[in-house]
Amino acid sequence: MSYNKVKSEAEKAQDEVAELCSGLVQFNSAHPEGKTDECVAYIKEYLDGHGIENEIHANDPVKPNIVAKISGTSERKILWVGHLDVVPEGKPEFWTHPPYSGKITDDGYVWGRGSSDMKGACAAAMVSARILNEMKKPPENGVEFWFTADEEIGGGEGARWLAESGRLKGDVCVIGDGNGGGRTLPSIDIGCKGGAGTRLVARGKTAHGSTPFLGDNAIKKLMKVIPYVEKIDQYRLELPEELEGPIKDSISFVVKTQPEPLTKEQRRAARRLFHYPTVACNIFNAGVKTNVVPDYAECQFDIRLTPGSKPLKVKERIEQLVEEAGVPGIEVIVRARETAGYHETPDSAFAEQLGATVKKVTRKKPVYKILTGGTDAISIKNFTGIPCLGYGTSMTGMAHQPDERISIENLVLGVKVYSWFPLLYTG
Ligand SMILES: [Zn+2]
Repeated sequence: MSYNKVKSEAEKAQDEVAELCSGLVQFNSAHPEGKTDECVAYIKEYLDGHGIENEIHANDPVKPNIVAKISGTSERKILWVGHLDVVPEGKPEFWTHPPYSGKITDDGYVWGRGSSDMKGACAAAMVSARILNEMKKPPENGVEFWFTADEEIGGGEGARWLAESGRLKGDVCVIGDGNGGGRTLPSIDIGCKGGAGTRLVARGKTAHGSTPFLGDNAIKKLMKVIPYVEKIDQYRLELPEELEGPIKDSISFVVKTQPEPLTKEQRRAARRLFHYPTVACNIFNAGVKTNVVPDYAECQFDIRLTPGSKPLKVKERIEQLVEEAGVPGIEVIVRARETAGYHETPDSAFAEQLGATVKKVTRKKPVYKILTGGTDAISIKNFTGIPCLGYGTSMTGMAHQPDERISIENLVLGVKVYSWFPLLYTG
């Protein structure tokens, strides 16, 4: 099939992809339940209706995953992975259209929780599966489109389970998650940051709130140590040379794609985003009653590291910083592994050919960037070794926000990329 044929098929499918996205959004698959059974049944009906081979794989019956299979004439197999679970909708009054309405508006958007992250990309993949399946001559590359559960909570019953249990087998994997920059700033994700989650615990001595000098206030102790842990954002990471280009492009992508222009201070922070860890104290638990001096306090930091850095060295530095604070009765727990996140080299045939696909579709050369957050790629890469690159249809500033929506234009771009790449890839 020629590119022009793919292009016209994708453009003809504009209403179809918007309706599929809307249909998926209307099933509430938000955590904490994170149920994907209704979405999977909906996808299965579509696939069966178009004679596309499919299988359901479930470790938990309410969190099934489904795969659409297009067989190829060669041994090569391309995987596409996208998730069906979403984050909670938050306060309904912040939404212009109800969060699970899947409302399609005349200005070309599909609204609702998950539209951008990432039921829209899943809808695009469904249409791509149909287009590839309807080809007169089967493609050379086999393709499996996987629709998964649990991405928003680490992939437990979804991609991680599929990877760990040996169900994901292929030569390369395209991740549909993330923001591919649409038409204006096309991009491919070559990696994701990872974490070095850190917990601080302070122990003191309780006393009556009226005689605080008889106690040892754990909150006070913890507050003294927090600024020391925050100094980890001064620690320069050692990074592989080949990531310098993508880091530059990632920073400029972050700066350019914010809905509001960044302040000078925010721009300064953005420029440090990959060469230094980011740190945010996001949970603080302490105290039982106003008149009781607390003997226990704990807090948790989200500390993110660029792939290719050395997390165990960062852990060591955090422990040192806590010691420098010189507060007795403090315990620090840093969850760090040998590696953080994952990354691929931007020079592989896979990266070049996915890049050529995106260029063909958008008529602009895409940049290669690293995501600040994580996707299923991390567990897929770590458990199976299959190279993973991301091209998502998500729109800037939409993921996890009220009034989440997706442009139908981005959905059509997704259909084009997910259909053309399997026809272009030669390994
Ligand atoms: Zn996502």
